Amino acid sequence: MGLDNGATQEIRKEIVRWFEVSLAVELLRNLVSRRATVLYPFKDREKVHVPEGLRGRLTFNRQLCIGCGMCFRVCPSETVEMIEDEKGKRPRFYLDRCTHCQQCEDVCPTKAIGLTQQFENFGFDRKEMTLE
Ligand code: SF4
Ligand code: SF4
Repeated sequence: MGLDNGATQEIRKEIVRWFEVSLAVELLRNLVSRRATVLYPFKDREKVHVPEGLRGRLTFNRQLCIGCGMCFRVCPSETVEMIEDEKGKRPRFYLDRCTHCQQCEDVCPTKAIGLTQQFENFGFDRKEMTLE
């Protein structure tokens, strides 16, 4: 005992009408509600959600460094090079190689290295991406 063709057509029309109404309601709701997207990077930088514990751009405090070379040893991506200066061996960081694994921060005995909340890790030349 199936539905006849006329009844089937009616049910289809009802379903389509229901979808059209829901679509119209959704459209109107979005027209009057506030924008959900952030216009970053053109503006709204302060509105970008930065999750707690984000491992962003690396910072280095040369004054605290004792030149132990632990950061150089643990870095998996050859971001760290040990260079010689008037104080002895000190690290130089090539930030474009950094994978933000945080191992250097963890092993540094003097807390000279830190990963910041700064999520923009870029530069227009190599100098800007080098930290000493
Ligand atoms: S965060 Fe990881 S990849 Fe970046 S410099 Fe430190 S050890 Fe190397
Ligand atoms: S681990 Fe810390 S103290 Fe040792 S060389 Fe690296 S930055 Fe300097």
